Amino acid sequence: TSVDATQDCIFCKIVAGQLPADVVATSERSLAFRDIDPQAPVHVLVVPREHHGDVSVLAAADPALLADMVALADQVAGELADGQYRLIFNSGPRAGQSVFHVHGHVISGAQLGWSPA
Ligand code: 5GP
Ligand code: ZN
Repeated sequence: TSVDATQDCIFCKIVAGQLPADVVATSERSLAFRDIDPQAPVHVLVVPREHHGDVSVLAAADPALLADMVALADQVAGELADGQYRLIFNSGPRAGQSVFHVHGHVISGAQLGWSPA
Protein backbone atom coordinates (compact mmCIF):
# COMPACT_ATOMS: atom_id res chain seq x y z
CA THR A 1 0.00 0.00 0.00
CA SER A 2 1.30 3.43 -0.84
CA VAL A 3 -0.06 6.95 -0.97
CA ASP A 4 0.65 7.04 -4.73
CA ALA A 5 -1.35 3.87 -5.36
CA THR A 6 -4.27 5.30 -3.42
CA GLN A 7 -4.17 8.56 -5.35
CA ASP A 8 -3.93 7.01 -8.81
CA CYS A 9 -6.09 3.91 -8.40
CA ILE A 10 -9.82 4.01 -9.20
CA PHE A 11 -10.59 1.07 -6.89
CA CYS A 12 -8.69 2.72 -4.01
CA LYS A 13 -10.86 5.79 -4.65
CA ILE A 14 -14.01 3.66 -4.50
CA VAL A 15 -12.79 2.09 -1.24
CA ALA A 16 -12.12 5.59 0.14
CA GLY A 17 -15.55 6.85 -0.92
CA GLN A 18 -13.98 9.33 -3.37
CA LEU A 19 -15.69 7.72 -6.38
CA PRO A 20 -19.29 6.44 -6.35
CA ALA A 21 -20.01 2.73 -6.62
CA ASP A 22 -23.01 0.45 -6.18
CA VAL A 23 -21.75 -1.39 -3.11
CA VAL A 24 -23.59 -4.67 -2.48
CA ALA A 25 -21.62 -6.16 0.42
CA THR A 26 -18.65 -5.42 2.63
CA SER A 27 -16.36 -7.15 5.07
CA GLU A 28 -13.85 -5.62 7.41
CA ARG A 29 -11.11 -6.02 4.80
CA SER A 30 -12.95 -6.17 1.44
CA LEU A 31 -15.65 -4.44 -0.59
CA ALA A 32 -18.06 -5.76 -3.25
CA PHE A 33 -19.65 -3.46 -5.85
CA ARG A 34 -21.38 -3.88 -9.20
CA ASP A 35 -19.25 -3.77 -12.33
CA ILE A 36 -19.94 -0.62 -14.36
CA ASP A 37 -20.19 -2.73 -17.56
CA PRO A 38 -21.94 -5.95 -16.48
CA GLN A 39 -21.41 -9.09 -18.57
CA ALA A 40 -24.07 -11.16 -16.75
CA PRO A 41 -27.22 -10.57 -14.65
CA VAL A 42 -24.96 -10.53 -11.60
CA HIS A 43 -21.50 -9.06 -12.22
CA VAL A 44 -19.89 -7.86 -9.02
CA LEU A 45 -16.28 -6.94 -8.33
CA VAL A 46 -14.73 -7.94 -5.01
CA VAL A 47 -11.69 -5.90 -3.98
CA PRO A 48 -9.52 -5.75 -0.88
CA ARG A 49 -9.57 -2.38 0.87
CA GLU A 50 -5.76 -2.49 0.82
CA HIS A 51 -4.05 -1.91 -2.54
CA HIS A 52 -2.35 -4.93 -4.17
CA GLY A 53 -1.73 -4.92 -7.91
CA ASP A 54 -2.94 -8.39 -8.86
CA VAL A 55 -3.87 -11.76 -7.37
CA SER A 56 -0.33 -13.05 -7.79
CA VAL A 57 1.04 -10.28 -5.57
CA LEU A 58 -1.80 -10.65 -3.09
CA ALA A 59 -1.51 -14.44 -2.80
CA ALA A 60 2.15 -14.04 -1.87
CA ALA A 61 1.71 -11.02 0.41
CA ASP A 62 -1.47 -11.85 2.32
CA PRO A 63 -3.25 -15.16 1.64
CA ALA A 64 -5.72 -14.48 4.45
CA LEU A 65 -6.87 -11.35 2.63
CA LEU A 66 -7.36 -13.40 -0.56
CA ALA A 67 -9.46 -15.84 1.48
CA ASP A 68 -11.51 -12.90 2.79
CA MET A 69 -12.22 -11.79 -0.79
CA VAL A 70 -13.32 -15.30 -1.77
CA ALA A 71 -15.61 -15.53 1.25
CA LEU A 72 -17.20 -12.18 0.33
CA ALA A 73 -17.62 -13.32 -3.30
CA ASP A 74 -19.41 -16.44 -2.09
CA GLN A 75 -21.65 -14.36 0.18
CA VAL A 76 -22.56 -12.02 -2.71
CA ALA A 77 -23.47 -14.93 -4.99
CA GLY A 78 -25.71 -16.32 -2.24
CA GLU A 79 -27.42 -12.99 -1.63
CA LEU A 80 -27.81 -11.76 -5.24
CA ALA A 81 -28.22 -15.11 -7.02
CA ASP A 82 -28.63 -18.77 -6.13
CA GLY A 83 -25.13 -19.34 -4.80
CA GLN A 84 -23.74 -20.71 -8.06
CA TYR A 85 -21.15 -18.48 -9.64
CA ARG A 86 -17.88 -18.08 -11.48
CA LEU A 87 -15.05 -16.19 -9.77
CA ILE A 88 -12.49 -14.77 -12.19
CA PHE A 89 -9.17 -13.08 -11.52
CA ASN A 90 -7.58 -11.58 -14.61
CA SER A 91 -3.89 -11.35 -13.76
CA GLY A 92 -1.80 -9.33 -16.19
CA PRO A 93 -2.71 -7.38 -19.34
CA ARG A 94 -2.55 -10.44 -21.60
CA ALA A 95 -5.13 -12.11 -19.37
CA GLY A 96 -7.40 -9.10 -19.76
CA GLN A 97 -6.55 -7.18 -16.59
CA SER A 98 -7.23 -3.46 -17.06
CA VAL A 99 -7.45 -2.18 -13.47
CA PHE A 100 -4.32 -2.91 -11.44
CA HIS A 101 -5.91 -3.19 -8.02
CA VAL A 102 -6.67 -6.88 -7.52
CA HIS A 103 -10.34 -7.75 -8.03
CA GLY A 104 -12.36 -10.90 -8.43
CA HIS A 105 -15.26 -10.87 -10.89
CA VAL A 106 -18.32 -12.64 -9.43
CA ILE A 107 -20.36 -13.75 -12.45
CA SER A 108 -23.75 -15.30 -11.74
CA GLY A 109 -27.47 -15.24 -12.31
CA ALA A 110 -27.56 -17.15 -15.60
CA GLN A 111 -26.46 -20.39 -17.23
CA LEU A 112 -22.88 -19.51 -18.14
CA GLY A 113 -21.04 -20.41 -21.29
CA TRP A 114 -17.40 -21.38 -21.29
CA SER A 115 -15.06 -19.73 -23.77
CA PRO A 116 -12.31 -18.21 -21.62
CA ALA A 117 -9.87 -17.56 -24.44
P1 5GP B 1 -10.32 -6.33 -15.49
O1 5GP B 1 -10.42 -6.15 -16.98
O2 5GP B 1 -9.18 -5.51 -14.91
O3 5GP B 1 -10.30 -7.75 -15.03
O4 5GP B 1 -11.67 -5.76 -14.90
C1 5GP B 1 -11.88 -4.41 -14.64
C2 5GP B 1 -13.37 -4.24 -14.51
O5 5GP B 1 -13.61 -3.01 -13.84
C3 5GP B 1 -14.10 -4.20 -15.85
O6 5GP B 1 -15.07 -5.23 -15.89
C4 5GP B 1 -14.74 -2.80 -15.85
O7 5GP B 1 -16.01 -2.79 -16.42
C5 5GP B 1 -14.76 -2.43 -14.39
N1 5GP B 1 -14.64 -1.02 -14.11
C6 5GP B 1 -13.74 -0.15 -14.65
N2 5GP B 1 -13.89 1.06 -14.12
C7 5GP B 1 -14.91 0.96 -13.21
C8 5GP B 1 -15.52 1.91 -12.34
O8 5GP B 1 -15.16 3.08 -12.27
N3 5GP B 1 -16.54 1.46 -11.57
C9 5GP B 1 -16.97 0.16 -11.61
N4 5GP B 1 -17.98 -0.19 -10.80
N5 5GP B 1 -16.39 -0.76 -12.42
C10 5GP B 1 -15.38 -0.35 -13.21
ZN1 ZN C 1 -5.84 0.50 -5.41
